[in-house]
Parts: sequence; structure tokens; C-alpha cells
Amino acid sequence: MADFALLGEGLALDLANTLVREHGAAVDLLARRGAAAAWCAAHADALPGGRVPAAGLAALRDAVHETLDAAARRRRPDAAALALVDASAAAVRPKLRATPHGPVVAWTGPRAGGARALGAIARDAQAVLADPHAEVRACANPDCVLLFVARDGRRRFCTTAICSNRVRQARHRARHRAGTSA
Ligand SMILES: [Zn+2]
Repeated sequence: MADFALLGEGLALDLANTLVREHGAAVDLLARRGAAAAWCAAHADALPGGRVPAAGLAALRDAVHETLDAAARRRRPDAAALALVDASAAAVRPKLRATPHGPVVAWTGPRAGGARALGAIARDAQAVLADPHAEVRACANPDCVLLFVARDGRRRFCTTAICSNRVRQARHRARHRAGTSA
């Protein structure tokens, strides 16, 4: 399976986080062959069925990334990106269905072009922004571009294990350099 920065942040954040930075260069993890299908397979439990065209997933990813990145950096988002997220969300409707194991959400709307899956992702992006207890943030590691939802106001890094350690080590090196040059 393709290597994703899978953070379990939910559909919208996980999709936005397929735009990463590796060794200082921007990398599109969805551009790799088979990556779109692999991403959908990794989120199969949350995505309505049906094939999602790679181009459609990448286009919505760009729009969701622009939307959530603008939220994290408190800047004005691109209007076309918002329009695409809204249109994708509006194409589908969640509907509660009873099962012997409790209610589940079923998605109604067109199947063509992976519209149901794209709609579920777009609605997740809207839900994240609508949640007053969820704040979209960008990782505090300046070399990292990943976004996450801080439900705990103190969270500053995408993954503490990787990014906060890197920042700590960088600070340590900077202090060390400052100490030797003084
Ligand atoms: Zn990070």
C-alpha cells in the first residue's frame, strides 16, 4: 500500500494531508500510481462504495486542503475551493438507516464519478469547520505541512513522536551553534 501520512484525523484532514513535504520539497502522495485507490481502500469503512476516479479525488483534495489550510492559518481561502467543497457536499445527503446493530449513515445521491464518496469527504470538511470544539491547526514543526484537528487546545504537532522530537533536536542544535559561535 502507498505510504500515506495517515493520521486518523478523519476523511477531510487525512485527504488534505496527502500533500506533504519531504526533504523540503512539496510532494503529492496521490500522484503515485494506484495511490488514489489505496487511499480510498484505507478509508473504506467511512467511504460510501463505488469507484472514485483519481482525478476527482485529487481535485477535491486540492479544494479541501486549501479550505482547511486557510482555516489553520487564519487567512482568506480561495473562493473556487470553497465552491467545490460546497458543491460536492450538496450532491449527497446522509440518511440514517436502522440495522440490528444500531443506526448507520447511508449516503444518497448520484453514484457516478464517485460522487457519494467525494460528498462524504466534503461534508466531513464542513463538519470539522462547524465544530466549535475542533480547531484546525498546522503542525508547529516548520518543516512539516500537515494539518490536524486540535480538540485539546495544547496540541501543537501532527504526531508528537516525530515532529516535536525534530523541533526539539533543531532547537538543541541551534542553541549549540549559538553557544559555540559566541
Ligand atoms: Zn508535523
